[in-house]
Amino acid sequence: MDLNEYRRLAARTLNSDLPHEMQMTIYGLGLMGEASELFTLFFDGQPQRDEVIKEVGDVAWYAAAICSRLGLRLSESLHLGYAARCEVNPEALCDGEFAEFVVIDAGKVGEMLKKAYGHKHPLDRDALLERIGCVMWWLEGLCDRLGVPLEEALERNIDKLRRRYPEGFSAEASIARVDTAGQHVEEGVRG
Ligand SMILES: [Mg+2]
Repeated sequence: MDLNEYRRLAARTLNSDLPHEMQMTIYGLGLMGEASELFTLFFDGQPQRDEVIKEVGDVAWYAAAICSRLGLRLSESLHLGYAARCEVNPEALCDGEFAEFVVIDAGKVGEMLKKAYGHKHPLDRDALLERIGCVMWWLEGLCDRLGVPLEEALERNIDKLRRRYPEGFSAEASIARVDTAGQHVEEGVRG
């Protein structure tokens, strides 16, 4: 599954009933929230690999959602991320630092969306796509560190969403979370 295929499949669970500006606000908040969930795993100690992969997928979903709603190519973002982060030596970073940089770049995406949709500044689509690419670059680096291809993390995310939203997004299915049945979940904290 390449990134554009992932973006297409992820778009099946967008909440398209909401106005565009509301969706962009939610996707910006969601990106930062999921980045925080990813980093919190490391902040709390040495996380389970599957937990990290799940949160990587959650972050990626919001990056894909932003691209979907703005007509941006998620695969192109990663190329831009490679260029923007070409001087970073991943070998010098510990696993948690990848998650920390996901938070930082997700926050910068959120700031761009706030300026565009809250303060009505012109949206610099190229800069936004590059920053989304930085988020994806850190996610890919973290996956590499765990020995799991980014594509596998994305496939797992789509599998989860197929179980949770067999008919596409609905508030009822979001609350029911059938994919977590029998698992311990901190309701309202980890999505
Ligand atoms: Mg999550």
